Amino acid sequence: MKSTLSLLESTDFPEIHRTHLETLQANLGYRCNQSCVHCHVNAGPQRSEMMSDEVIQLMQQLLDQETLRCLDLTGGAPELHPRFRDLVLHARRQGIHVIDRCNLTVLLEPGQEDTADFLAEHQVEIVASLPCYSLDRVDQQRGRGTFEKSIQVLKRLNRLGYGIPASGKILKLVYNPVGATLAPDQKQLEDRYRRELSEKFDLQFSALLTLTNMPIQRFGAVLIAQGQFDTYMNLLKSSYQAANLAQLMCRTLISVDWQGYLYDCDFNQQLGLAIPPHSRSSSPWHVRDLLQTGLRPRRIRVADHCYGCAAGQGSSCGGALTGSTA
Ligand code: SF4
Ligand code: SF4
Repeated sequence: MKSTLSLLESTDFPEIHRTHLETLQANLGYRCNQSCVHCHVNAGPQRSEMMSDEVIQLMQQLLDQETLRCLDLTGGAPELHPRFRDLVLHARRQGIHVIDRCNLTVLLEPGQEDTADFLAEHQVEIVASLPCYSLDRVDQQRGRGTFEKSIQVLKRLNRLGYGIPASGKILKLVYNPVGATLAPDQKQLEDRYRRELSEKFDLQFSALLTLTNMPIQRFGAVLIAQGQFDTYMNLLKSSYQAANLAQLMCRTLISVDWQGYLYDCDFNQQLGLAIPPHSRSSSPWHVRDLLQTGLRPRRIRVADHCYGCAAGQGSSCGGALTGSTA
């Protein structure tokens, strides 16, 4: 698969800095029960990279040491990591909010029968991909049979209180476009999802997050193969909104890979754009370094893919940034 890094590194994206640290986003590994076309981490059932016990322990120390608001668990399918529950419990004991980026179908996998109950018991927020409310679109992007399974799991989550107002159990759905276009207005699309999922399946959810597809990894390779890379980059750049800069998620987040190395965000992680080493060290920053020195505000490593976060209404792991589609 062709990497898009060389096409992105030379950039005129504005200089940005981290203000403080609120969220630790941890990629527990690349194993996943699905292999979606747009996946920016190339996850799949054959991937074997998983966070080691040593790194899990360092992460737990970091949760004890830093004043963090949120632990955001991603992958692959993070639930497939054998220490997933240990990490969740550790964070919850510290009063840290936990997000599980869940593909829904993983909750039907053998060995995962009680994961939904575990998440509900510990009030873990679920952020779940559902790229459309229709079978064809979901199955096209995420594989045949995915839609039906997703609806089955969403019903179960509703029964556990997820997505039901005042239950305290947050269920957010994630939309990303199938092709090389920007997502529609988040609020309007949320209203549409709500109507369709309620009328057709009697389902509820807390909020819809719209995400921009990043021109990296599997989606980037598809753009190149289809001769659409430049057109897509032009779309992102011509839709740039300076108002999004203040809300970029990298200003308050740090991303850890399965080996413990640190990045400004998950996208930089997938491009291999690690936080540069200290002056005396030759290796990239690691959780171990963060434990010793803490994280001071510092310049963020940007490249042309950052236009994906700043285009239109903006995009982040928490959805649109400004609510403006102008
Ligand atoms: S479910 Fe998520 S992590 Fe798994 S392949 Fe699809 S996009 Fe990638
Ligand atoms: S891709 Fe987005 S989140 Fe990552 S460094 Fe660029 S602007 Fe920040």
